[in-house]
Amino acid sequence: MRILVVEDEVDLAHTLRTGLTAEGYTVDLAHDGRQALWMARTGEYGLLLLDLMLPGLNGYKVCAQLRREGNPTPILVLTAKDGEWDQAEALDTGADDYLAKPFSYPVLVARLRALVRRAVTAAPPVLAVGDLSLDVATRVCRRAGTRVDLTPREFAVLELLARRAGQAVTKGDLLCHAWPDEALDPNLVEARVSSLRKKVDAAFHRKSLQTVRGIGYRLVDDRERL
Ligand code: CA
Repeated sequence: MRILVVEDEVDLAHTLRTGLTAEGYTVDLAHDGRQALWMARTGEYGLLLLDLMLPGLNGYKVCAQLRREGNPTPILVLTAKDGEWDQAEALDTGADDYLAKPFSYPVLVARLRALVRRAVTAAPPVLAVGDLSLDVATRVCRRAGTRVDLTPREFAVLELLARRAGQAVTKGDLLCHAWPDEALDPNLVEARVSSLRKKVDAAFHRKSLQTVRGIGYRLVDDRERL
């Protein structure tokens, strides 16, 4: 699972990355609020570890903005402030949990695991974009109620596009999501998108999988345009 650590104290950020990497997580770092917002929007993170006092845009604002945009990524707030008011405020802006600095590393890891577990059980089991639906638990895809058989890679590519419906998703992100452990070759993504177009679009006379030139692809509800 990929975690975004947002912390402007560079030493602490690197310590967290080293520790969490040893726990088996993939860790990306952001050192200010704007970078964090941008990365949280475009990356595929299972969790955000977010410091509150940040240059650029503070953690409260990052959290509130992501929630306004409907971003459901679990957020664990880290801060030097430890007053009750700050904790309440952080939770009000949409953070899922709070840990005051200095914190104990085992407690951090335990909280983080608990959040991930909660997020997995709370995740919506069916993603829908127009009349295309993906049941993430059973890996079943349907178009207008008709079952469409997809390979596991095709399902993974379509799943990420559905999670970010209406947004351009880069080929790099699709590669990371569908081929997490393999060499990165964009041709893999192109081939799967081409077979997905046959199965979920052409077979139903649809055009929901759009190419975004120079970036990647976008999945839309194309029914209004028929
Ligand atoms: Ca800070």
